[in-house]
Amino acid sequence: MVELLIKNGLIVTMDKDRRIIADGSIAVDEGRIVSVKRGHSGKNKPEEVIDARGKIVMPGLVCSHTHLYGMLLRAAPLKIEPPTDFSQILQRVWWPMDEAMNKEDAYASALISCLEFIKTGTTLFADTFSGPNAISGVLDRIAAAVERSGIRGIISYEATERHTHAEGARGTKENERFILKVKKERMHRVYGMFSIHASFTVSDELFKYVRELASRYKVPLTVHTSEGLCDLYHNYERYGKRTVERLYDAEVLGPDVVLAHCVHVNDDELAIIKKTEAKVAHNPMSNMLNAVGVAPVPKMLSMNIPVGLGNDGYIFDGFENIRAAFLLHKVALRDPRAISAMEALEMATIRGAELYGLENELGSIEPGKLADIIIINPERAPTPVIPESVTGHLVNTVSGNDVETVIVGGNVLMRDRKILSMEEEEVIKTARKSAERLWQKLGAIRKR
Ligand SMILES: [Zn+2]
Repeated sequence: MVELLIKNGLIVTMDKDRRIIADGSIAVDEGRIVSVKRGHSGKNKPEEVIDARGKIVMPGLVCSHTHLYGMLLRAAPLKIEPPTDFSQILQRVWWPMDEAMNKEDAYASALISCLEFIKTGTTLFADTFSGPNAISGVLDRIAAAVERSGIRGIISYEATERHTHAEGARGTKENERFILKVKKERMHRVYGMFSIHASFTVSDELFKYVRELASRYKVPLTVHTSEGLCDLYHNYERYGKRTVERLYDAEVLGPDVVLAHCVHVNDDELAIIKKTEAKVAHNPMSNMLNAVGVAPVPKMLSMNIPVGLGNDGYIFDGFENIRAAFLLHKVALRDPRAISAMEALEMATIRGAELYGLENELGSIEPGKLADIIIINPERAPTPVIPESVTGHLVNTVSGNDVETVIVGGNVLMRDRKILSMEEEEVIKTARKSAERLWQKLGAIRKR
């Protein structure tokens, strides 16, 4: 039996040979890809056929680092003294927002974010939520939104000792509780992990404790690392070490660790990342927005350090993030060769899956893998869309709005841009209500 056949598409497989197949077909059964080939002959009559003639077929995008609740800050007219650096952005924007969040806001923001991810072609994300007044049980609400949307999410609570040590312990406990629940209930689209805010808000004791838990439960551990200079200076002042050196000395680093950002890392720190097989989530658009600097991503890639692409809660369209990664390093290094189109695509697909140990299940179109597939209509492309040009078009032409069909685990979540898994209008209405309440609480708008 074949449940679903996608035929006549231009397939960008992202498999190990990075094959591109013209007039290709993909057969899907029981949520997994069973064949990928040129043409579509076969004995089995499929239950459902999608004709992808003239369209690009590729793996669903992976967002390696996000904060779903950041969606509620979109265009917020905050009445604050404009921050002049990253620390002030945290103190004046993010931390007041964290404190205003309740569990239903977490649910509403997760739902609208999943909707935006589907509409722009992302099928797996890694999220860390922060809200000191909504810790216990919040991951259940975020998981409920992910389940309802139909996509995949690795979700976590971001432990921090910003206020007290007890706060860090509570955040970690929430992760531990949820990881056990995922296992017990055999959730298959929602994954757990441990998350620590950043080395400037966390003690060595909490680092060591969380490291031990991540090993015990065999789940990833993520931490913001030298995103802004404040992280680096804090570690210098307190420990006489650079950020990655401190993490290394505290024995935090390993193949299951995803370091978000790594903007202010030097060559010695890159050598440590390489040696410990830790991974990096790069967030170019957020780095630009926060004016923190440019991560040495081309150097990381030349050292074969796995780098995935994240949005850090800012722009959810993965194609915009791909384009930003493609462009940012060229201007920073004044070298048009800094990052190739294929490298930018890899960060948003197979490399992203690798960051979280899911490269054998997701991130490419290959027999045996889970059927997370997107179909793009490049009708606006001004030049031919052929195997030789398709990677160029994905990086330079396509936007999330061109994604027509989204499939996760063989289930069609969006067809011809119509969302099938949720009521789009209701999701938007709920998000706006939450945002309005939050904006009032933050003093950004008056009660109406
Ligand atoms: Zn972040």
